[in-house]
Amino acid sequence: MNADAGAAGELGIYACPGCKRGLRHEEGALRCPNCSQAYPIREGIPDFIGEELSRSADPVLRRMRFIDRMARIYESRLWYPIVLNLYCGFASPSLAQLVSRMSQNVQPAKGRVLDVACGPGTYGRRIASPSKEVFGIDISMGMLRQGAAYVAREGTPNVHFARARVEALPFEAGLFDATVCCGSLHLFADTVTALREMARVMKPTAILSVFTFTAGRGGILKFRGVRDWNRRRQGLHVFELPEMEQYLIASGFENFQPEVAGSILMFSARKQAV
Ligand SMILES: [Zn+2]
Repeated sequence: MNADAGAAGELGIYACPGCKRGLRHEEGALRCPNCSQAYPIREGIPDFIGEELSRSADPVLRRMRFIDRMARIYESRLWYPIVLNLYCGFASPSLAQLVSRMSQNVQPAKGRVLDVACGPGTYGRRIASPSKEVFGIDISMGMLRQGAAYVAREGTPNVHFARARVEALPFEAGLFDATVCCGSLHLFADTVTALREMARVMKPTAILSVFTFTAGRGGILKFRGVRDWNRRRQGLHVFELPEMEQYLIASGFENFQPEVAGSILMFSARKQAV
């Protein structure tokens, strides 16, 4: 895709999240000629979900209104340090360190980068460059709108947003040169389903860069009781390292490279070559 591709150009990359075929751009919507489904474009952001998530059985999705409202303070100086230090301990990397680490992992990749559960583009906006076009997806329209506002204000090139679920990505197979998933893998209802769908849209040997939670040595997550309560009540999955490696292998990834700081797990992995 050309770096100077306009709004109409970048919309051409999206595929039907159901049947994965190409979409037709109509007035204010993208339509699948195959299943006749129309996906509205709101404030320049295509919406591939179109359902009311606050009634979902998934506790993470039910909290959508809260997550939407969080968008404004998400990148504030307070939010990240409080959450990271409380949950993962004082050895946790700062937001700046996490951004730097996630960017480093995908540094050699050129082309398209998928930012899964991108929030307001906290990582994607800082990864995008003239040689990296970032496509962020999130389920929260509030987060995506905030991201689009930041991009407009900062003049960041090559960042695009769409509302979609990780389990049904609106892209054809083998499209992305890298994927980042920062601070959200622990929230997905089924880790392997999410990772498999990421692998599907990635090119062979493309790199995956993730930070998530692990049962480490820092913060309240080191206590089993806290982890169990969070799993039951908040849908928060705190991973053991061998467990994560198994999930990755089951999803078509290899070369798991983990690093633990406090109860933060940062890792990279590659999509298998064949
Ligand atoms: Zn379709």
